[in-house]
Order: sequence, then structure tokens, then C-alpha cells
Amino acid sequence: MSQKISGVKGMNDLLPPTSAVWQYVEKKARQMFDSFGYLEIRTPVLEDTALFVRSVGEETDIVGKEMYTFQDKAGRSLSLRPEGTAPAVRAYIEHAVHNLEPLTRWFYLGPMFRYERMKTGRYRQFFQAGAEAYGAKEPAQDVELMDMAMQFFRAIELPGVSLEINSLGDDACRPAYLSALNAYFSGHSAQLCDDCRARLQRNPLRILDCKNPQCQQLAKGAPAMLDLLCPACRAHFDEVKAKLDALEIPYRVNPRIVRGLDYYTRTAFEFLAADPVLGTAGAVGGGGRYDKLIASLGGPDIPGIGFALGLDRLCLLVAQGNRNLGKAPILFVAIVDPGSQAVAMKLISGLRRQGFAVDFDTRGGSLKSQMKRADKSGERFAVVLGEDEVSKGRARLKPMQGGEPRSVALDELSSLLKNLA
Ligand code: ATP
Ligand code: MG
Repeated sequence: MSQKISGVKGMNDLLPPTSAVWQYVEKKARQMFDSFGYLEIRTPVLEDTALFVRSVGEETDIVGKEMYTFQDKAGRSLSLRPEGTAPAVRAYIEHAVHNLEPLTRWFYLGPMFRYERMKTGRYRQFFQAGAEAYGAKEPAQDVELMDMAMQFFRAIELPGVSLEINSLGDDACRPAYLSALNAYFSGHSAQLCDDCRARLQRNPLRILDCKNPQCQQLAKGAPAMLDLLCPACRAHFDEVKAKLDALEIPYRVNPRIVRGLDYYTRTAFEFLAADPVLGTAGAVGGGGRYDKLIASLGGPDIPGIGFALGLDRLCLLVAQGNRNLGKAPILFVAIVDPGSQAVAMKLISGLRRQGFAVDFDTRGGSLKSQMKRADKSGERFAVVLGEDEVSKGRARLKPMQGGEPRSVALDELSSLLKNLA
């Protein structure tokens, strides 16, 4: 016997009926982006490794530990994308989109890759739906994005998701904050993990994001960026809050949010699910402003902001709700004898061409086994074709959930189904 080959660890197969949950969530996401006027981009899953090193940042867990990096046959260093913002910004610069329009709003939906320790809601291939807006530094843009995500959670009936916001300052106020952090953590360096001790000089902000419990405990007493914001960043943050209030979007200010990427400035935010099924993987999305990222990747000095939602976690929560999201075809066609199959297939093909979802058992077999299949698949109606029905051009349409069958002419079946659909 040949040996079995398993899928790659941390990368999931998605099978029915769970795929129906994903289709539902993705459809709702696309509807949300449409209604806010965000247009879709699709970038490759592979990028030049330098793109992520320069944007996400060398000191981050993502670049430092989690990237799938390899050399291609020509010796280039490529990486599977761990997130969607850097590729989107790369494409924005590469296609000089700022020359076409002053304000660009894009969305993407697709797989991301991080070599992480797996558990519920944390995988090595996972999916994000993300939005990016380039060209608006105004707080209205921040709030539009938060509003969009919150409306989406409502649309997929997850009202328990909460919004937390923070400000990370900018070039004017962050350096002083980094010095304050450095001074604080230097005083406690013996309690820091090895990684954080290395971060202390290069990027003390990253310590706040460390998952090590002892570092997290220390981080609780660290100075907060919010206390050191410059007047311009303070005014921006205050306006974000005022606009959230005006739209009656509930939020909590959480000075501990730093986000796992280096490129954020000013507003940073996270969406948290209360459901215990996700455990410590309770963040269902996050985002932030990155006003210097486009310029730092060689583009023009244009501000940007975006968010990414974790679809795996959201689908887990939606699936918990036990909602019936699968959609069975409307009609099952069964045949009594092999001689009726040609007429049945012609009828089915005609109905499908008109857009009806129709199912039949390609193996033929006994009527009993065909009807068993129809019962299991949840179709609403069944039609049985035998010699008699074929010769008369009429058959009985049977409602599968009970009720009286009715006699229909086969050539009128489509207009009848239209009324019943
Ligand atoms: P976490 O703190 O849970 O590691 P993160 O800050 O690394 O999250 P982001 O980079 O902000 O995550 O990505 C946005 C969203 O993508 C997260 O809120 C989460 O829902 C989802 N996500 C991130 N990493 C994974 C993963 N390995 N598996 C599944 N979903 C993920
Ligand atoms: Mg992470």
C-alpha cells in the first residue's frame, strides 16, 4: 500500500458544510466594501522579502520569526505574504495610482502566511479581508473604516465585537516616548525575556506587544503614548473620538494597543470578540494609520490607513451560531429506469441553463437510493421520471418537506419553479 501524504501543518482544508459559512462571510464582506465604495485589488501571495523587512519591520515577530522565506531558482529572496498592507502599498506605488486620483480606497481578501504556534483561531495559512485608504490624513477617514468594520460585524450577526482605540503618535512625539519607554524598561531589564532585552535599544515599543507573561506584566506599568502626544496628534485623536461618538459607535480607549507592525502612526485600533471559544486569539481584526509608510517604501508623501479582519476567527464564531447557511439546489430529479435518463438529463440541463440549481444522481441506481439522497441534500422539490412520465410529458412535483404532490407538464416546470423559488 502507498503511504498517505498529509496536508501542511497549520494549513487547513475547507470542506462542506463549513465552506458555506465562508461563502456567507465573504459575500457579506464584499457587500460591505461595495457599499462604502472600496474597490478590490489582488496582489500575488509572493513578494520580495525586502518589502516586509522594510515595512513591517525587522524587530517584529512577523518578520523576525514568522515569515515563510525562501530563495527561488534565480537566488532571489521571496516571502509568502504575512499581511496585506505592504503588498497593497507596493502596488499603489508601482502603478503610480496617486497620479490617477487623490483618494484611493481598496480592499483585498485572501490568504496570509505566518509560521506561528497553532491553536484555535491561529493558523499558518489564514485569511484576511482588509481595507486600505490612501490620501486622507483626516480623522473622518479613520472613523469611516471603523464604522465599516462595525457594520460588517452587525451584518454577520456578531454583535459582541468591541472596538478599542489608541494613538501611537508621530515623528514629533514618538521619539520622546521611546526614550521614556527605554528608561522604564532599562530599569527592569533583568525581568525581560531575551527577545525584549534585544528590543530595548532598537525598538522598545515592541516590548509592549510581547506575548511573554512576565513582559506583559511589566508592560502594564510602562508609560503610555497617550500621555505624551504632541498637540497635533492629540487633536487628531480627540477628533476621532468625537466622530465615533457622533456616529454612536461604542469604543474603549486602550493605551496598551501597539499592534504587531512597525509602520503605524497615530490611530491604532483593534476589534475584539468576547466569545471564549477563541481564547487568547480573541482579536478578530486590527488596523491603524501609517502616514509615513508610502514614502518610506519609495512612494510619494501620502498618508494611509487600513484594517485587516481575521476571517478564520470570524467564521469560527459564525459557525458557532449554528445558523443554516448551506444552500441546497431547489430540485432533485430522480429516474425510475435507465431508459428515462436521456430525457431527465435534457430537462436538467435546460433548467440549469436558465439558472436553476438542480441535482440528480449521476450513478442512476434504485429509485429508493436516489430519493434517500434527495432527502439528505435538503432540496425543496423532487420530480420522478419513468416511462409513463416521459411519454406523456408530465410528472409529479413532490414537496420534500411534506405536502401534496402536484402534476406538472415538463415544459412548464421552469415557470412553476420560478414562482416557487
Ligand atoms: P494576534 O495578536 O492574535 O497575533 P496580530 O496582531 O498578529 O494578532 P494582525 O497582524 O493585526 O494580527 O492581523 C489582523 C487579524 O488577522 C487579527 O486580528 C486576527 O484576527 C487575524 N490573524 C492574525 N494572525 C492570524 C493567524 N495566525 N491565524 C488566524 N488569524 C490570524
Ligand atoms: Mg500575531
